[in-house]
Amino acid sequence: MIKTFFQNIAFRGAKYFSQRQLISLTRQKLILPFYHIVSDETPVHIKNLYEARTIVEFKEDLDFLLDNYKPISLNQLIEIHKTKNKPAENYFHLTFDDGLKELSSIVAPILKEKNIPATFFINTHFLDNQNLFYRFKESILAEKYAAKGLLDFSAENEREIDELAILLGENFEEYLKNNQPYLTSEDVKSLIEDGFTIGAHSKNHPKYFDISIDEQVAQTIESVDFLVQKFNLEYKVFSFPFTDDGIGVEFFKKIEGKLDLTFGTAGLKNDVIPNNLQRIPMEENKKGIEIIKSQYLYYLLKMFVGKNTVKR
Ligand SMILES: [Zn+2]
Repeated sequence: MIKTFFQNIAFRGAKYFSQRQLISLTRQKLILPFYHIVSDETPVHIKNLYEARTIVEFKEDLDFLLDNYKPISLNQLIEIHKTKNKPAENYFHLTFDDGLKELSSIVAPILKEKNIPATFFINTHFLDNQNLFYRFKESILAEKYAAKGLLDFSAENEREIDELAILLGENFEEYLKNNQPYLTSEDVKSLIEDGFTIGAHSKNHPKYFDISIDEQVAQTIESVDFLVQKFNLEYKVFSFPFTDDGIGVEFFKKIEGKLDLTFGTAGLKNDVIPNNLQRIPMEENKKGIEIIKSQYLYYLLKMFVGKNTVKR
């Protein structure tokens, strides 16, 4: 409640500040905006979950970012965190979760044109369209049966979604075959050749707070190792599926030294775990400039009460 109240104030108040003022007041020179997909037509498997950024909206976001920050690569980001030096200039690094095919057909060409590096986080069980994320299954069913809001499964009852689908005459195998929602290994190879970087996003995108700590560690390490081996990566990065909210120190101790960086989705925030970086979700129904400025003002409001660090 209080959080929403402050977020609303932040949203309304942000227009009174310039981006330069906000950066200087908060001393936050590095930001990590994150997306899933960019498309003028939101695919059925996503339509009932969130709104995709259109190409025009995405390009506007990028122009705002480029006006205020320098794009940096994953390697530069890793380096900044290793040296623990404060960023010399204003920087941003873009990331995308879920490994969708639009990354190679729509996103990568736009980024190449503007010379912006990015990291794509992939679920190893979905790569090459082997399986469908259970939330995507929900979106497909919701679309077909106008059941939006009625479906709320967890990965554990995926079998129930599959059974419901059979009852309703939906065939996810067919959907996968016909729509190919995910990147293929070939797509990933050419993205890497084009200079983009790849990270893991778990094996099958479970809610981490629903699974045991051993399973969390296995989902994390095994998905990263799989991609590192398959694509000969020289770095190890991971973004938490859904959220890293509630992930305790014990988890981070278990993966200590095994990964270069991990990424959460808490917005513009610090984290008590130095190698866990928080990103700004960009798929809200607002312009990129509004999302980022209100994140800064929200950060500024919380600075006075010392609430800008994710505690674990
Ligand atoms: Zn995800």
